[in-house]
Amino acid sequence: MKKCLIVGGGLAGLSSAVSLAKQNINVHLIEASPKFGGRAYSFVDEKSGNEIDNGQHLLLGCYYETIKFIKLIGTENLFRFQKQLEINFVTRDKIKHQLKPTELPYPLGLLLGLLNYDALSIADKIKIIFLIVQLPFTQSEKYLNISVEDWLIEQSQSRNCIKSFWEIIAVGALNSKLKDASAKMFIDILKVIFLNGSDASAMIIPKVGLSKAFVDPAVNFLKVRKNELSLSEKLLEISVTQNKAVVVETDKGSINDFDTVILAIPSYAFSRINEKNFIIENDRTDLSTSSILTLHLWLKENKLKKPFYAFIDSRLHWVFNHGEYITTVTSSADELIEKSQEELFSIISTELFTYLGINPENISRYKIIKEKRATFIPNKENLLKRPSANTKLENVFLAGDWTNTGLPATIEGAIKSGNTAAKEVQKYISSL
Ligand SMILES: Cc1cc2nc3c(=O)[nH]c(=O)nc-3n(C[C@H](O)[C@H](O)[C@H](O)COP(=O)(O)OP(=O)(O)OC[C@H]3O[C@@H](n4cnc5c(N)ncnc54)[C@H](O)[C@@H]3O)c2cc1C
Repeated sequence: MKKCLIVGGGLAGLSSAVSLAKQNINVHLIEASPKFGGRAYSFVDEKSGNEIDNGQHLLLGCYYETIKFIKLIGTENLFRFQKQLEINFVTRDKIKHQLKPTELPYPLGLLLGLLNYDALSIADKIKIIFLIVQLPFTQSEKYLNISVEDWLIEQSQSRNCIKSFWEIIAVGALNSKLKDASAKMFIDILKVIFLNGSDASAMIIPKVGLSKAFVDPAVNFLKVRKNELSLSEKLLEISVTQNKAVVVETDKGSINDFDTVILAIPSYAFSRINEKNFIIENDRTDLSTSSILTLHLWLKENKLKKPFYAFIDSRLHWVFNHGEYITTVTSSADELIEKSQEELFSIISTELFTYLGINPENISRYKIIKEKRATFIPNKENLLKRPSANTKLENVFLAGDWTNTGLPATIEGAIKSGNTAAKEVQKYISSL
């Protein structure tokens, strides 16, 4: 039986492992940290007993590879699928504006839903609708050099259109400021979200922690098929003979019983094992990143009615309502991330009071999670660096949300990259 060594147990590594195991290719998965899941995991908060995420993850109906993955590992029922897009926006003066397509067939329902979205003037709604209608004819490649902000301005989108609509979508999907991300990436995802029927833009929210929804069941899928999994084992070096990886040195020993290797590690970890540029050029792994700030807050009394809210023109972008506790998300949070716990609590609790009327005295406890290198920034420089699954070594393949998936750094990107690497492994093995 052919064997693939997979390095990195995030969603890219796990999805490649599951995909290969399903094809009866033996997998040996090693992960440097003491847990699987990488940047998407959950853990039990000891004081409350609640299982909380390292950061709230929001999925979309257009996460096609992710949906296949959760069906395969048997966790589809652990996700709440919106029937169609529904977002409750809130403004500084506590006014709520709902964006929800009408029952009419797609795309009429979406366009009418936009017309009903009362955070915008009629003129602004028409500008947004016009931009969406133009999407099938918009060639994203032309806009690689332009920022999302400049593109939206060029498309006659007013400041209010940008603040009350586009910014929420762009900052959430790209985890970058509008002035930093390339319009190419934004146009590409807008096409996927808005041109694939009403399901594509509907939100999907895990009902349980990320480890229960993705990680543990994937690990179990691999274990029952007798694959080898190792935690706290770090790849240090790869020895090459005749353009092939033959030995992988880890901090636990040497591994040489494999035919192929998938490196599913983040770009910044990659450069450490690639000093002589023998796997890919090192400058392709040097991608700038952006942070995400998460606060979990336990309330004495929770009066929030909706499962989540999007904040218009705030440093806080989303609030998710988990009943016993709420979770706030600030994407592209580099300006906040170095602040102290007290400062951050003060900033976030002020926003919660201003937008949702949550009195700071109603907050019994909070927990802050800073993910400093949450995702790469999809600017022109980074987009041009993203490597494909193939490397200079014929039996070594890459996976990870930073590789060239055509998507931003997301769960869908990570899973798609894992599946792509698995297909390359199968192709290589069948050529032997
Ligand atoms: C706070 C936060 C919120 C997010 N929100 C969303 C969201 O709402 N929607 C969405 O779609 N995406 C979201 N994302 C992005 C998503 O989590 C990532 O894109 C995805 O998890 C990346 O998976 P990966 O496998 O590519 O990388 P990683 O998860 O980083 O996995 C790589 C693994 O490799 C291991 N590793 C590194 N070096 C070595 C080595 N030398 N040897 C062995 N192992 C090694 C690491 O320990 C890690 O476990 C969010 C990310 C964060 C951090």
